[in-house]
Amino acid sequence: MRRKVIVGNWKMNKDIHETANLITELRERMKDFRNEVDVVICPPFTSLVIAKALIKDSPIKLGAQNMSQYDEGAYTGEISAKMLTVAGCEYVILGHSERRQYFNETDELINAKIKKALKAGLTPIVCIGETLEEREAGITDKIIITQVKGVLHELTATEVEKLLIAYEPVWAIGTGKNATPDQANQVHKLIRKQVGQMYSWAIAEKLIIQYGGSMNAQNASSLLSQSDIDGGLIGGASLKTVAFMTIIQTGVEAYL
Ligand code: PEP
Repeated sequence: MRRKVIVGNWKMNKDIHETANLITELRERMKDFRNEVDVVICPPFTSLVIAKALIKDSPIKLGAQNMSQYDEGAYTGEISAKMLTVAGCEYVILGHSERRQYFNETDELINAKIKKALKAGLTPIVCIGETLEEREAGITDKIIITQVKGVLHELTATEVEKLLIAYEPVWAIGTGKNATPDQANQVHKLIRKQVGQMYSWAIAEKLIIQYGGSMNAQNASSLLSQSDIDGGLIGGASLKTVAFMTIIQTGVEAYL
């Protein structure tokens, strides 16, 4: 059985003081947690170092929200994979729809970033998902297959075994509209089938595919109990201790 992975994407929220408060509250509530699910927080870059110190000896792991496709040099404003690992990150979100939409990230660029992240020993959380127009045009499957092929281009089986995919329908992110559990599960199955065809069924079966898009304390149970939904990438609800803890607890129950 695949372990659930619950990831909080804080986006451009929480300065270092607010980061400290949120982590302190989370740790307090996670005192009796026995590691039945993987919990990752992805604060902004400026909070990574303090977050790393604050999660010490806790079950919480650290991730970043983006990174450069380059190793180092004259790329003003960018952050490299090595900088993230040295700061204590184990994960990095790549290809989030907000990066695709506002910063013109393409499957090709995301593919280059995935390769860099893997070389540095980071676990990429690779985001894919269709827009509302694409869903309404009935081309969700085609879009998803194209994205899976694009982001995994020329990755070896060993590399694919090290990453996670997050299915995030763009129309559900930050909108309060979530995909129905069945809608989401159908797309997760499609992603798994596609990875199975490109690599092997053994790899596809082990692949963690998270759902993201307005997951909250109320809908987490119906989403996380689906056969092919292996966790959540959570934005808004990860900024609230009680809501995030409820989702984590739901992940634990789905695993037991
Ligand atoms: C996200 O940031 O990936 C996300 C799914 O956001 P929200 O949960 O707020 O929709």
